[in-house]
Amino acid sequence: MSDRKNVFLFYKKNDELEEKIQEIRKIGRKYDYRLVDHPDDANIIASFGGDGTFLQAIRKSGFREDALYVGVNDGRLGFYTDFNTNDPEKIEMALQSDQTEILKYPTLEVDVDGMQSFQCLNELSIRSQIIKTFAIDVYIDGLYFETFRGDGMVVSTPTGSTAYNRSLNGAIVDPKLNGMQLTEIASINNNQYRTLGAPLILNHDRELVLKIVQDGNDHPIIGADNEALSIRHSHEIKVKVSNKKIKTLRMKDNLFLHKVRRSFL
Ligand code: NAD
Repeated sequence: MSDRKNVFLFYKKNDELEEKIQEIRKIGRKYDYRLVDHPDDANIIASFGGDGTFLQAIRKSGFREDALYVGVNDGRLGFYTDFNTNDPEKIEMALQSDQTEILKYPTLEVDVDGMQSFQCLNELSIRSQIIKTFAIDVYIDGLYFETFRGDGMVVSTPTGSTAYNRSLNGAIVDPKLNGMQLTEIASINNNQYRTLGAPLILNHDRELVLKIVQDGNDHPIIGADNEALSIRHSHEIKVKVSNKKIKTLRMKDNLFLHKVRRSFL
């Protein structure tokens, strides 16, 4: 952390937050941190807001592998935000002590029709955009696995497993396990259509291919974390665990299991 001094602040401007950020800026200046106007010039990118703002900070800055991302929440504790605008003392402590550590979070690498590729930190989601089911042929490492028909499918990272995936009854995955999880959104299971009907956790070296069956309803929405892509018509979506990771700063006393217990138990 000490060799990184150029900081970009990512947040939606509002008067109340601006006031709190002024306080944090003062602390930064005290320890020789410099604010930069563009994320490309930063080696620390700090987001102020919820988990959604943290996800946007990473996406808008291009999933920089050479930058350190820091999530500062605005009062409500999140999964990616270890610091709090209401607790500037803790931020100051983090800047000068050994109470923090750098974590590397796995991401997904997604390719759509060989034309567009992008990363996800939480999940890739594919959903019907009309009140009609659509079908996906699922292939794993080139092997035909199943044909899904329903509302959609989600492929999540371990850190994303506590987000959308959890609402779909997916398993919560320890981020120390490197892999991806496929969950269904309201699959139809009857004599005509049959899917696994359970979350499927795949090792990091697998390749998942989701082929949208071209049967009329073949314009699903593709979501990368909390952003819908502007792809209107897709055929084949390849998903792999990326070898690019995101570096984040977290307090040593705020482990994944603390967050799971605090949020869900
Ligand atoms: P947000 O900050 O408002 O997030 C919404 C909620 O999701 C918050 O409570 C946040 O803390 C939580 N969240 C986000 N990432 C999390 C994670 N990795 N683990 C545990 N909780 C997490 O911002 P947003 O833009 O609405 O959030 C985006 C995320 O919302 C998506 O990446 C997706 O995972 C999730 N989502 C969930 C559902 C659902 O559960 N039905 C539907 C769509 C999207």
